Formats: sequence, C-alpha cells, structure tokens
Amino acid sequence: MKILIVGNGARESAIAMKLKSDNRITKMYFAKGNASTDSLGQNVYDDSVEGLRDFAIKERIDLTIVGPEAPLVDGIVDEFKKHNLKIFGPRKRTAELEGSKAFSKKFMQTHNIKTANAVVFDAYQEAIDYVRSQEFPLVIKASGLAGGKGVVIADDLEEAEATIHRFMIERVFGDAGIQLVIEEYLRGFETSIIAFSNGEKLFPCIPVKDYKKAGSGDTGPNTGGMGSVAPSPEFTAEHQKDFEENILKPTLEGLQAYNIRFKGFIFFGLMVTANGTYLLEYNMRLGDPETQVIMALMENILFDVIMDCLEGNDIDLKFSDKKAVCLVMCSGGYPRQIETGFEIRNTEKVHQSQVLFAGAKMRGDRIYTSGGRVLSLVATGDSYEEASKKVYEDARVIHYDYEYYREDIGKF
Ligand code: ATP
Repeated sequence: MKILIVGNGARESAIAMKLKSDNRITKMYFAKGNASTDSLGQNVYDDSVEGLRDFAIKERIDLTIVGPEAPLVDGIVDEFKKHNLKIFGPRKRTAELEGSKAFSKKFMQTHNIKTANAVVFDAYQEAIDYVRSQEFPLVIKASGLAGGKGVVIADDLEEAEATIHRFMIERVFGDAGIQLVIEEYLRGFETSIIAFSNGEKLFPCIPVKDYKKAGSGDTGPNTGGMGSVAPSPEFTAEHQKDFEENILKPTLEGLQAYNIRFKGFIFFGLMVTANGTYLLEYNMRLGDPETQVIMALMENILFDVIMDCLEGNDIDLKFSDKKAVCLVMCSGGYPRQIETGFEIRNTEKVHQSQVLFAGAKMRGDRIYTSGGRVLSLVATGDSYEEASKKVYEDARVIHYDYEYYREDIGKF
C-alpha cells in the first residue's frame, strides 16, 4: 500500500509515525514534507491540487490523507474522486462548514446546534448599525479563511467599528472579510473534540485542551497552538453528554438533511460556559496540536480505522487511560516576526518524548529551523505531571538559536 499525506506540520508527522509500524504500508509520500518525513518516506514538492492528482495517478497511491484546510477548500477530494483515487476528507462543498463561517453559523442555527447567538452581515452600514445597538465584548469574525487572524473580540464600540472597517472596507483579508459573523461573547474554557466520519455516523475521539496563546499563563497573541493535553482535564462527563446531545447529534442530523455523507475528520471547537457546552466552530480536518496527543493515546490501528470509515463500516475507537502532553517548540517571535535557518541540535538525545518536526528542514544530515512552529514533543504518563515533566526535560536537551516555548503546558 502506498500512502500520500498532504501537509507539512507536526500533525502530519504524528499521522505518519502512527502509520509507520504498519507493515502493509510499503511507502509513504509527503507533500511537502519536513525533517520528520524525510526519514519516513519521500517528499513531494508540487502540492497543488492538480500536481497531487497527477502524482497520485502516476504513483498509484492507494490512500491519500489530507491535513490542512486549504486543499480541502480548493476541492482536492472532488478532484481525486473524479479519478477514482481513494482519499480521506470532505468534498469542497462540505469543507465550506469550515471555509465559510457564515455558512457554518447558518447550519448551526438551522439544526438547533448549541452555539453563540450571531447575525451574519453582507453590508457595511448594517453591521455598523447593529454593533451600535449591542453590548460589549462582542466577537467579530471574517467569514472566509483568514489564517486564524480573522476573529476579533471587540471590547468597545470603537474597536468594533474599526474592525468592521478593516474587514469590509479596507479588505485586509480580501474577499474573506466581505461577509461578517457578529456574535455574542461566551466566557468559559475551550476544548476540542475531533470525530471520524464514516459517511453515516460520527465517532468522537477523546476531548483535548489546546493552548492557543503565545505566552505562559495565556498571555500574548493567538497562535496556531503552543501545546495540547489529552484528555482535556476540565471537560467532565456532564460536558460530554451536553456535547453529544446538543452538538454531535444535531450536527449529524444536519449533515444528513443536507445529504452530506463525507468520510473524513470533523473538528468541534467548543466553549464550555456555566450554561454548558457551546460550539464555536467546525474544522473539517484534524487539529494541530490536537492530533499529536490523540495519536499518542489512540489504541486502534489508524490505517484500519480510516479504511473502515471509507468503506462505511462502524469503528470502535479505543484510547489509553494515560495522559498525553504535547509541547510545541517555536522560533522566538512567533506568531509575528521570526528568523529561521538555525541548526537544531540534540534531537537524537531525546528519549522520553516523541519528536515530531514541523517548521524544520534537513540539509545534508543536519536539521535547521524553517518555520514558526519548529517541532512538537509528545509524551504520555500516568498523570499530566509525569507527561509534562518528560516533555520539559527533553525540551531542555534540544538547542537552536531563538528557541521558545511556553512553560506551563500540562501543568495544573
Ligand atoms: P482557528 O484558527 O483556531 O481555527 P478561527 O479563526 O477559525 O480559529 P474561531 O475558532 O471561530 O476562529 O475563533 C477563534 C478563537 O476566538 C476561539 O478559539 C476563541 O478563543 C475565540 N472565540 C471565538 N468565538 C468566540 C465567542 N463567541 N466567545 C468567546 N470567544 C470566542
């Protein structure tokens, strides 16, 4: 079996490591790959939808797994299916649940999914008039994909008006900001749940806590994710029940009502408040760094689970009772200005954690930083404390110029 994995983060490295020991898999290809995937298979450098389609036909790829959202929104699944290529992920139309916040909010409202109250706007003046009648804080979201930067929590009217102007008139995110979702601010803690879909049912994985802010103690700007912990420590059985009844079940009913029978991943971004579990967003893919801890605790054979979903079979997900912690090591300055190209030393001396590269490239037999999020360290233990201790001890072993990581991941 030949597998193609699209994406080059630590999430894709985690998928590859999970598949690695399966002796049915003869070769893995990565588009575009990183320093981890260099040693696990072959990197492919043309990652356009057409380039990947041609590659998959030529190499007779048996299964393609897609990590990031952009190829899904660009229609990679539609294109592969046209050519009878097996691929795990939603079609372009279904990926709109992530690609358009306006569409996904309307979907949630239509199907009585527990979510923040919100109104969608296409016209600048109507959005301005609306915020003038509201209380603050208020959450303003560009409807399209904005690289995680299209959500602003406006503390007052001045900030709200300036944000609407930037999104709709200055078009700082291009067409992504011409439609806005303005919603009520929810106070609580966040949890992510990722589910596998076999086209008929959704099978949720364990809940994950993700650390979004750059600085320890949740300070500084939002990032792609600085670490994660599974299972999410604050998410109780009661929150889970609320999620299953008021979010998971109506989501499945909504998908069926729209005749959407996709086979792939669906990610629920949740906010848990004093009134229960609310859905903030869907992503139609695995999260990063959520995937790293899910893979660390998942006891199933990933290849079988994916193939079963593709065949429409039910799956029985099993997770270890242990705790998993993922620490993301970054280039200093991330998510803003960063410098890269520095040698990463001593990763071969790491023995307690799994090292999953992301923004790191091989040159000869040496590894150099090449992005904001450089690598993930993932460890498991009987307690959060034990797993966290392992990743931090290993982080102190690794060295590169301008290294940076949060100091509080998995420490409660
Ligand atoms: P990501 O890049 O993480 O997928 P996104 O840009 O798609 O995010 P959301 O997940 O909708 O957008 O929002 C980003 C973050 O903004 C959330 O993780 C949460 O911290 C905050 N947020 C969004 N909506 C609300 C809300 N209604 N109340 C409070 N905070 C919110």
